[in-house]
Amino acid sequence: MLDLIIRGGRVVTPQGVGDWTIGVQGERIVWVGLDDPSLQAGRVIEAAGKIVVPGGIEPHAHLASLVTMHPGGREFTLGPEEDTVGMAFGGVTTHIDFCFVHPKTDIPAALDHRRKRWEGASVVDYSFHLALGGALPLKIFDQIGDAIAEGFPSFKVFTNETLPPHPHRLPFKLDFGRIELAMTRAARHGGIMVVHAEDDDIVQFNYERFREEGRTEGANLHLVHNKLSERLAFTRTIQTAHATGAGVYFVHTSAREGVEAVNEARGHNLPIYAETLHHYACFSADDYRQPRGFCYHTYPSLKTADDNRALWQGLVGDAVSTTATDEFPTSLALKLRGKRIDDVTGGNLGAEARMGIVYTEGVVNRGMSLERYAAVTSTNAARILGLYPRKGVIAPGSDADLAIIDPAIDKTLTREDFHVSDYSPWEGWRVRGWPVTTILRGVPIVENGRLHAGPGFGQLVKRKIDPVILRRPAS
Ligand SMILES: [Zn+2]
Repeated sequence: MLDLIIRGGRVVTPQGVGDWTIGVQGERIVWVGLDDPSLQAGRVIEAAGKIVVPGGIEPHAHLASLVTMHPGGREFTLGPEEDTVGMAFGGVTTHIDFCFVHPKTDIPAALDHRRKRWEGASVVDYSFHLALGGALPLKIFDQIGDAIAEGFPSFKVFTNETLPPHPHRLPFKLDFGRIELAMTRAARHGGIMVVHAEDDDIVQFNYERFREEGRTEGANLHLVHNKLSERLAFTRTIQTAHATGAGVYFVHTSAREGVEAVNEARGHNLPIYAETLHHYACFSADDYRQPRGFCYHTYPSLKTADDNRALWQGLVGDAVSTTATDEFPTSLALKLRGKRIDDVTGGNLGAEARMGIVYTEGVVNRGMSLERYAAVTSTNAARILGLYPRKGVIAPGSDADLAIIDPAIDKTLTREDFHVSDYSPWEGWRVRGWPVTTILRGVPIVENGRLHAGPGFGQLVKRKIDPVILRRPAS
């Protein structure tokens, strides 16, 4: 006798989509196949008319993070105990946050600190990218191999300072010498580089120039963090990766230039992957002029309608592998506090909306296949970042992490559809299809509009990347 059966839904697997039954024993999937009336279980979920996909993976979140755009204060984004409630309602079963390693600490100490913050605090499963920033001593790079062996195989670097330097702001940028060193170590030990790629010269010069010209209003952010900057930094990063043998996962690809650079590298069989944000695919710099326009902003910046098209083409096709949020949950007042090019609050609030928005905009409005939908919301992130096959796939042996989407839901989102903070940038957006049930390791944690798990249900997941991901573009 099984613990749980999900019966009658359209089930999305890498082998195809079918009206199959999923059997769960304990935390794992043990059966996927044609319904067998003799199957018995302690609990049956009827999913007729619904779509069953792997639980969403949010590969890019900054919870309990210092809000560095306003360096005078010590304000933090909402922590995992609050934000992961929204993830659970939105069909997300695992998130990857960041553990920043600055010059005065080292990898084990930073990881220890971050892990303690998450213990007993997250509703959904989690891990951390290690973020390397500033003038790090070389001994830190000797710790990369151990971190990978311990289950943390992804290393985030910034190729630029996203804002002008400030005495109360820790540096984010890693110079290309250190990036080359990190890439060499990551490549040697089976890690991947997670890169925020903008050209530091272009961006910092633009800040200087726009200030001098008196063009400091935030609606100009796309001209400061511009398309050329993305092209230059993506290309330089890809060249460095090629020289060192490293794989690269570009976070928040925002422009056609980024998509093209990644597509070209993949054409040369390099292990290069692009992430974009549903905010970047759905909004443009024109939206900055709306009353709540900075709700949609994160650094680098929103771009143009043509860039939206390129991002969707990449998602429906092959060039863009994942969708993420760059989740940075704050109150509306804090999100809208900055108005200038150098102080608009970055980050997004949208991890709860991502699965529903990508379903509507990808599957319903742009003909994305259900297999591709599962890939860009879950499977690819799992494979590229080392959660696979435990996460990101509906298959025997994998964790029973599932999102059930009701494609009959047709509504305009309101504040009441969300469970985090005091606003959502997606209020007013029409969706067709929305997650209604979320199952994590065999437990229905959201069902019938109610949360059935609390902070602490989520567990740390150790990661290991399949070598094929690091050899060629394999996701
Ligand atoms: Zn980010």
